[in-house]
Amino acid sequence: MNAPILRVSDFCVDYGQVRALDGAALDVGPGRIVTVIGPNGAGKSTLLNAIMGVLPAAQGSVQFLGADERGTIEARVRRGMSLVPEKRELFATMTVEDNLRLGAWVRPDVREGGVQATQAEVFRLFPRLEERRRQLAGTLSGGERQMLAIGRALMARPKLLMLDEPSLGLAPLVVREIFRIISGLRDSGVGILLVEQNARAALQVADHGYVLETGRITLQGPAAELMHDPRVAATYLGLG
Ligand code: ATP
Repeated sequence: MNAPILRVSDFCVDYGQVRALDGAALDVGPGRIVTVIGPNGAGKSTLLNAIMGVLPAAQGSVQFLGADERGTIEARVRRGMSLVPEKRELFATMTVEDNLRLGAWVRPDVREGGVQATQAEVFRLFPRLEERRRQLAGTLSGGERQMLAIGRALMARPKLLMLDEPSLGLAPLVVREIFRIISGLRDSGVGILLVEQNARAALQVADHGYVLETGRITLQGPAAELMHDPRVAATYLGLG
């Protein structure tokens, strides 16, 4: 197997006296989609925020591109980590195009043609965004907003793309469209860490999956196998 882009080991995060993440360990390889599924409050957002450096870890390590990662959020972004947060966090009063441009601020070629080329790639992935390039982000539909949030993250040309519940609040058809695009991103070699409550959609698109329950990884395996695991089927796919 290729060396992992991300390796998280023995990872613990506390909120005061409460341990929200307890000894999590996972790998994401290049061109792989790895999903973490689990119920509300399991610690999925906490995991992504701590990998990104938004939250401090109480214990454990994040190895990114083969080195121990202890940098600031900005340093992590510059090295190639990108997080699409659950709330999407777009600039509502700015246009689609300006939101995308902001995603490229970390790039050394921000004033050159490179950013333009990446924007063209993003528009190829999301033609809807090109149609709406001059529209204010605050007036987009939920699905379009999610597309813009992903597009903005891609503008930084990340090596690791972390997605926090991209399906949240979206109609099934829109979820399918977004997951189809996420699946296509594999070819670029980016490693994708996708956390989701929508276990079915996530396991369909992922190569490998982890189940997170009250801060602990309780099960893991190839996504196709997890999908047929009776415990996953009963608890997360409603097939019990
Ligand atoms: P959801 O799908 O509902 O977003 P999640 O799996 O992403 O859930 P987290 O948001 O990571 O879960 O929360 C994990 C646990 O940590 C929950 O019990 C939550 O209440 C708690 N928690 C999250 N943020 C804080 C905080 N800032 N202070 C205290 N406890 C928190």
